[in-house]
Amino acid sequence: MTRSEHVRALLEEYARQRAADEADLEARVAEACAREPRIAQLRSESAELALSAMRSILTQQSLEQRTALASNMKRQGQGINAKIRELLHGAGLPEDQLEPRYRCDKCRDTGYVGDAPARFCDCFEARLKLRQYEDGSMAGTDEQNFERFDADRIPEENGQREQMILTRKMCEEYADRFPQTDYRNLLLTGAGGLGKTFLLNSIFERVISRGGAAVRITAFRMFEAMRQRHMGSDEKLDGFSALIEAPLLLIDDLGTEPMMRNITVEYLFTLLNERIAAKRHTVIATNLTPVQIKERYGERVASRLLDRSACRAVQLKGKDLRSL
Ligand SMILES: [Zn+2]
Repeated sequence: MTRSEHVRALLEEYARQRAADEADLEARVAEACAREPRIAQLRSESAELALSAMRSILTQQSLEQRTALASNMKRQGQGINAKIRELLHGAGLPEDQLEPRYRCDKCRDTGYVGDAPARFCDCFEARLKLRQYEDGSMAGTDEQNFERFDADRIPEENGQREQMILTRKMCEEYADRFPQTDYRNLLLTGAGGLGKTFLLNSIFERVISRGGAAVRITAFRMFEAMRQRHMGSDEKLDGFSALIEAPLLLIDDLGTEPMMRNITVEYLFTLLNERIAAKRHTVIATNLTPVQIKERYGERVASRLLDRSACRAVQLKGKDLRSL
């Protein structure tokens, strides 16, 4: 995808986010009015007040009269708002119950800030950078997501289907709760073709569609970012920083990246270590077994990848689904 294609796709994502913001606000207004019908009454009073004040302001000739009307309307409006706040409080609802809640307050989820010429908001630029870093070979989010999960395709023998259903549920909960997950990190292991990539992509799709910031990357692309950093690229702009900083990082196929002296193990350690220190979430899919992880990356990296206090590890077993 070119930059402009990414921009277009991201603007669509922002439009979906705004629609979600609106639906969320409507639901909260409805909830408040259901709990406390006087709020609905006050809200329509407030709307009527504004409308009639507007009309009378338009019919007044002198500036003094218009100013007086406007400040009178403002005072009455504030009175109504104070009553609404009181009722919200009495109903056990937060003060901002009837206000829009944005993912980004700076741009109100439009992606733009400033007057003409508007520019992209920092949140937009950051997301754009993350998107561009994605590997073009990764599956589309419309192809691989939890809704597309088809348990019937998985053999029942040896508990393979049951295990996959449980793992899917665990992954979906992880994505739905993010960032309030039970375990901060997930490690999906097992031979090729058992559905690890599908689960990883499904988590990514769900978190992104909930408005979260996630980066997914193949281990090969991750290695490229490491190599660039090693060769002295600009730290502020390179992909390696994006990998360290992503609130959720999903690495697919760990173990398929080249092993290069002074790079692979060292930078993977830095990446994991910095992410753990900053309490960021990481999901990794790999064909390597825990023993192979230790052999390939050494004790220091393995202890971070397999840390049981922060990581939930799942080893998938069974037949290769691609060959069925
Ligand atoms: Zn923004």
